[in-house]
Amino acid sequence: MIVGITGGKGGTGKSVIATSLAYELSKKYKVMLIDADVDCPNDHLILSIKRIKEKTVFQTIPKWNYKKCIKCGACSKACKEHAIVFVKNKFPIFIPEQCIGCKACIVSCPVNAIGEHRKKIGTIYSGAREKLKFFSGESVVGYKESSRVVSSLLNFVNPLIKDYDYVIIDTAAGTHCNVITALMKCDFALAVTEPTPFGIHDLRLIIKLLKILGLPYKTVLNKSTINKKLKLKGLIAKIPYKESILKAYCKGIPIEDESIKNLAKAFEEVLI
Ligand code: SF4
Ligand code: SF4
Repeated sequence: MIVGITGGKGGTGKSVIATSLAYELSKKYKVMLIDADVDCPNDHLILSIKRIKEKTVFQTIPKWNYKKCIKCGACSKACKEHAIVFVKNKFPIFIPEQCIGCKACIVSCPVNAIGEHRKKIGTIYSGAREKLKFFSGESVVGYKESSRVVSSLLNFVNPLIKDYDYVIIDTAAGTHCNVITALMKCDFALAVTEPTPFGIHDLRLIIKLLKILGLPYKTVLNKSTINKKLKLKGLIAKIPYKESILKAYCKGIPIEDESIKNLAKAFEEVLI
């Protein structure tokens, strides 16, 4: 069973819920936690896991052979990412930061003056905390197509998944490509929110996405004591706003609050 822990809004405590739930379940089951928030991975910090590098993730980029180039500008025209600047009668100028590796420029060149090269776009790490197995992806700072790092991370762990009872994927916040890439791998989702107007607004967005993806889901209300009157559909657990939880989070130790144990129990019941 692969479960995505997701949430429309950043700062709701999605990673806290993902790490605490994974740690709690790992006492009883074989559990793998995957931090797929590759632009800002922090599950290893929350659980004080020392990460070990497993693999570098690369992306194809074009490489010009100016001896062959006839300065026609077709490559620049083909690039929808504005990664190639062309000035008449000059060789094209490449902006690697803009390139997403689609290879349209390579295909469009009439004289095969563009070959393939590669650039680093991220790293995949592994680790463990007691019986909990952990994987994490991290994209290079400023790399805009980081869903490729999410895909590489999920491909990397794919052969191992069958050995686990639960695989918990902590997605990025929001409803963008990174989140969709991670959720497409899941059988079920927990949408984490907080009782604030922004929290509820963004919860609606993530639920809309989960419905489009046809993914069954339940919601978890974090910091629930901020607004005790709030009622939510499909709620399976409430996690209070509590000093002991914040202290454990700051110290990088697993949160063993009663509310997390209740969440794990409710989670097991829902997924039986
Ligand atoms: S590979 Fe695609 S994005 Fe990169 S420079 Fe070529 S056309 Fe542009
Ligand atoms: S398409 Fe090929 S020949 Fe034309 S400018 Fe680009 S690299 Fe040069």
